Amino acid sequence: MSFYFAILMMVGFVQENEPAPQAVVPTNLFGIKQENQIEVFVASDVSEAVETGVTETLALAVKTWGSSGRLEYWVLGTDRDAALELNAQFCQRRVARGDMTERDCLRDRNNKDHGFLSYQEIGAQALATGRASMSAGHNGGSEWGFHRYSSSLPLGFAGLLDIAGEGDQITIFHEYWHSIQQAFIPAEDHQTRQKQMGPVWFAEGSAVAMAEMTAEKLWASGELPNWKNSGREWPDLKSRMTSKMQLVQEKRKSCPSILPDTYEGDCRELAYESGAWAIAYLMNKHGANVLLESFHPNVAELGWEGAFQQTFGQSSADFIEEFETFVDLPLAQQLEILPKF
Ligand SMILES: [Zn+2]
Repeated sequence: MSFYFAILMMVGFVQENEPAPQAVVPTNLFGIKQENQIEVFVASDVSEAVETGVTETLALAVKTWGSSGRLEYWVLGTDRDAALELNAQFCQRRVARGDMTERDCLRDRNNKDHGFLSYQEIGAQALATGRASMSAGHNGGSEWGFHRYSSSLPLGFAGLLDIAGEGDQITIFHEYWHSIQQAFIPAEDHQTRQKQMGPVWFAEGSAVAMAEMTAEKLWASGELPNWKNSGREWPDLKSRMTSKMQLVQEKRKSCPSILPDTYEGDCRELAYESGAWAIAYLMNKHGANVLLESFHPNVAELGWEGAFQQTFGQSSADFIEEFETFVDLPLAQQLEILPKF
């Protein structure tokens, strides 16, 4: 299995309006009920503050966007033995439920892309080098009827390296959005699922934009607590989106597409940061709830491009052209499309 729909960020330099409706999903691949179906599992060296932060943030994401169905969120710490122990717990569960053989499951822990040890290693490296880094990913699971997530240690929740807990909250919203995208896709085969997620800039750009804007709204309303645990002040939505636009301007000089469809290479960041601006642009034009209300409910029937055209009234190729002219505008004008909370 490959590494799907993940977020990897260097946390150190950090790089809506009406209430959102509950997701109405056309499939019950994930056993969706209108309740919080998330289970969080943490390694034994992960603190209670981290476990609470992860659990509460996910619960608020469910409350905000609706349930995406059964979801397992596995959080690694920095200790190797604790990671092996957590992997054993994961495998016991898989074997008991008939999802995997013990042999396959044990082998999976060493997978360099999404094995438990790869996530443990990211946290351990961050602590060893003092260079903040974290990764979390939606790593499939639809074949077993749930969303499978793994995460390295959320450094902000853990109070390490002066990282802000707010960044971890955004990461969790980002990750949970991927499960919402997945929940609207009934196909069982991997290829169709991937196709209906759309190009990387759309899948990742929506996750970034939805997470950034929703977190901002929920901090403003007080529903999402601020951690205020970093010496550096947490930047507001405008500043965070400004940093993203600066990266877009820098990268577009050397990247073939401003909205790339790839997880590979030096231009992959554009899929996230430029993608986020593209989605913000679409939300400004078509409404803050356009993805949940209009786009995703159509994707199973119309396919990704068909749903795009029906929702946004233009082909994705025409949209990309239009978006390029937006990126040429002065920053002050670009910032005007962002919602204010
Ligand atoms: Zn992602």
